[in-house]
Amino acid sequence: MSSRRISTEAVILRSMRYGEADRILHAITPEHGRIGAIARGARRPRSKLGGRLEPLAVVRLELQTGRSDLHTVVGADSVAVHHRILTHHGAMTEAQRACGIVDRTAVPDEPAHAVHGLLRTMLAVLDARPETASEGLQLAFLLKLLYAHGLQPALGACVHCGRSDALVGFDAAHGGVVCASCQRSAPSIDEAAVTFMVEALGRPLAAAPVVESRPALQVRRVIEDLARHHLGVELRDRTARGA
Ligand SMILES: [Zn+2]
Repeated sequence: MSSRRISTEAVILRSMRYGEADRILHAITPEHGRIGAIARGARRPRSKLGGRLEPLAVVRLELQTGRSDLHTVVGADSVAVHHRILTHHGAMTEAQRACGIVDRTAVPDEPAHAVHGLLRTMLAVLDARPETASEGLQLAFLLKLLYAHGLQPALGACVHCGRSDALVGFDAAHGGVVCASCQRSAPSIDEAAVTFMVEALGRPLAAAPVVESRPALQVRRVIEDLARHHLGVELRDRTARGA
């Protein structure tokens, strides 16, 4: 691959110290999906790049592509700053969690307009009203993230027989709800959890529905099972629990 310059908007997902003064970062971009880049000298006190490459930063990156997967950052301009997230613990935790999950689910070098746009919206919602950081918002974000990856759970009728009443389970391998006769080993799911998913997917993130703890656990399991079956990604970890 020959070297060329690209200019792209990006949200910084991870930023790691490297060597004496460099940073290596992961970012999500609309046109190029997840990218990795090195910012040489970014940790020197007078670097023009430094402060703009922290996680959660929304920037326009000028990149030099090279022979390796790691691009070189040659410029970074701030596009949006989320001051209120930075000073609100709950919003900060939620924003970091969202960036971490985008980092793990994004595909390198494939356009990711929907995923990038969703993360920008999540950061904007958290910055506008940091107090809305909640389990309902987190689960709504995750459902929309799966949707952005092409996964839309079937919630209106049994995925095996088409029955639309007595829906009592969720069969992640088949991507939707199941009735009592078809449930077999599929985990049980309450009506409240199905209703939450329908509403969360149908509303903008800023209007994410509130969720009680029992349906929240069930929805979280649905999300984790769908990601495992269809994206090959394990979402479950300690930081992904609770709000
Ligand atoms: Zn059925």
